Amino acid sequence: MQDTTGAAPEYPEDDGVTDDFGLAGVPDAFQRLWTPHRMAYIKGGQHQFKNVDDCPFCVAPEREDDDSLIVYRGRTSYVVLNLFPYNPGHLLVCPYRHIPDYTDLTVEETAEFAELTQTAMRVLRKVANPTGFNLGMNQGVTGGAGIAGHLHQHVVPRWGGDGNFFPIIAQTKAITQTLGEVRQQVAEAWPQANGAGPASGGATDAQ
Ligand SMILES: [Zn+2]
Repeated sequence: MQDTTGAAPEYPEDDGVTDDFGLAGVPDAFQRLWTPHRMAYIKGGQHQFKNVDDCPFCVAPEREDDDSLIVYRGRTSYVVLNLFPYNPGHLLVCPYRHIPDYTDLTVEETAEFAELTQTAMRVLRKVANPTGFNLGMNQGVTGGAGIAGHLHQHVVPRWGGDGNFFPIIAQTKAITQTLGEVRQQVAEAWPQANGAGPASGGATDAQ
């Protein structure tokens, strides 16, 4: 603190929240944990996956389900466990086609994309009894997409109290099961299409 401001003697607690750059700001009850290094991770992800050849969402269907963490393969889209889950059971619905934007989906793809999202919720309810969900697509780099070139819908099961301090303080999520265990549970609970098309989905299991 600089003595020229005259504020330091009157508000000694400001020392804890004021830096030495003399910039303007209004102290409040929050402490900031600056994480600019995360931007390198996010941007690094963009540069890593520019092409179909090295796009993980294009490569995954070519591998065995066990290896790729795929839980269900549909006609135009498939469902896979997120390798970096926010919560156990964090699923991604992906079209097989390498397209970046939601508006790039055909009518048929859009229908199955939505159907698989609904089924993902039903299956997770059956397997893990979450009390809520977050669904969403980050569109483009600016929208926060980790892999912006290949559209994917997040299906994140939520439980009361899961958003505790741990992810922020320790940048750690407590994931209580291995991805392999979760994949097997979800895959086994997924209703098989048996050629019936969109009629599948286990509506009677909902709730
Ligand atoms: Zn792709």
